[in-house]
Amino acid sequence: MKRRNSHQRNLIYSIIKESTSHPTADEVYLKARMQMPKLSLGTVYRNLGELEADGQIREVRFGAGPSRYDGMLGAHEHFVCTQCGKVSDILPTLTDPALPGKAVTSYKLDYFGLCESCNAK
Ligand SMILES: [Zn+2]
Ligand SMILES: [Zn+2]
Repeated sequence: MKRRNSHQRNLIYSIIKESTSHPTADEVYLKARMQMPKLSLGTVYRNLGELEADGQIREVRFGAGPSRYDGMLGAHEHFVCTQCGKVSDILPTLTDPALPGKAVTSYKLDYFGLCESCNAK
């Protein structure tokens, strides 16, 4: 597929791919601007939409918070710290004894609580 400005798109993609923090569009914008000072927030949103439509990243939402972008495409769950907002990946827990023999096509499960550093305070 032909795309304009693939340099911008590649930069935005690599920021998300290299991050494990599930950045918001604003966070991607701030990071990308360090390398491309003329980049606009609108361009960031447009590229995020294209990357998601092409299946290269995934948009994730937790409660009323802003959309976040995830470069990890394999099935996984999320833990959301209700204190600092940190989002971490949780590997799938599809180990329920009732599951073998069934074909799971999708599921959604989010964990909310305190992350390690907030819990230690
Ligand atoms: Zn926390
Ligand atoms: Zn994730």
